[in-house]
Amino acid sequence: MKQPAIFDVIIIGGSYAGLAAAMALGRALRNVLVIDSGSPCNKQTPHSHNFLTNDGKTPEEIARLAKQQVRMYSSVSFLEGLATACFKTERGFGVQIHNGEEFTARKLVFATGIRDIMPSIPGFAESWGISVLHCPYCHGYEVRHQQTGIFANGDTAYELSSLISNWTNNLTVYTNGKSTLTEQQQTKLTAHSIKIIESEISKLENINGYIQNILFTNGTNASLRAMYARLPFVQHTSIPQESGCELTQEGYIKIDPAHRTTVYGLYACGDNTTRIRTVANAVSMGTTTGLMVNKELIEEDF
Ligand SMILES: Cc1cc2nc3c(=O)[nH]c(=O)nc-3n(C[C@H](O)[C@H](O)[C@H](O)COP(=O)(O)OP(=O)(O)OC[C@H]3O[C@@H](n4cnc5c(N)ncnc54)[C@H](O)[C@@H]3O)c2cc1C
Repeated sequence: MKQPAIFDVIIIGGSYAGLAAAMALGRALRNVLVIDSGSPCNKQTPHSHNFLTNDGKTPEEIARLAKQQVRMYSSVSFLEGLATACFKTERGFGVQIHNGEEFTARKLVFATGIRDIMPSIPGFAESWGISVLHCPYCHGYEVRHQQTGIFANGDTAYELSSLISNWTNNLTVYTNGKSTLTEQQQTKLTAHSIKIIESEISKLENINGYIQNILFTNGTNASLRAMYARLPFVQHTSIPQESGCELTQEGYIKIDPAHRTTVYGLYACGDNTTRIRTVANAVSMGTTTGLMVNKELIEEDF
């Protein structure tokens, strides 16, 4: 397809949220460019769960099918690459990619996701998404009733423990240093037979990402089958902030119910905007964003 000089919409990020937005916009006859660098957050997960019609497929299979379906709409173009900057133009916005090439559009959508920051514990990153888990709704069923750890401290450890106790009663909190749980929280956890281990972790022994043991710096160890962690994160790209989009206190891109950021013409959807981190939610947000962007374009032109 010959690319238009100016697109209606450029979508940065072509995973679930971006592809859903692209489908909605393609079906609305819009010229769309999807720029994607190919690094979705769940790429290491062997099976993705809890997305109706695709339960248990690999993340890649779901994305491949989605792309195949979006490609049916000939006004949507794809570009594999990294968007490196965004700038204002007379009629909208420009996006520069890694090789210096520039593309322009009337509206931009950031569907860029977030990047989890791994602790520097050997074995942790290798096990992320395989047996070190971010969400019980995505993976809890597969490790139900198993020996499970919570890698957290303080309020987060307390919240996660109570959540995960729905899936297993074989739970231990690993605070990896002195516990910052309150006395009240500790008493409640103990009442639910949830143990608290403060020893510093030296390694997660694993086979192909499946945890076997936690090793501690004091020479002891504990056997384990799964561990939950709520990791700190950064936005996958700093382009939204550099373009003036405000972030929330938690670090998500601030959006209104129509997925508009705080900068007119810039939209955001998916993991970069919300704690509800599921494929289904990313798709839902992407679809809504497509609708809302198209509505704004119609209103500007009609
Ligand atoms: C380990 C793990 C396992 C998970 N398992 C499940 C599960 O089983 N079930 C479930 O429902 N959910 C699961 N999730 C959550 C789910 O993967 C996310 O909610 C979903 O991927 C969010 O989609 P997204 O499109 O917002 O972001 P992502 O899927 O993270 O995609 C963002 C895309 O934007 C691209 N990008 C970023 N910056 C740029 C740039 N500057 N230029 C070009 N491209 C860029 C990236 O390369 C990437 O392709 C899991 C998450 C993790 C971390």
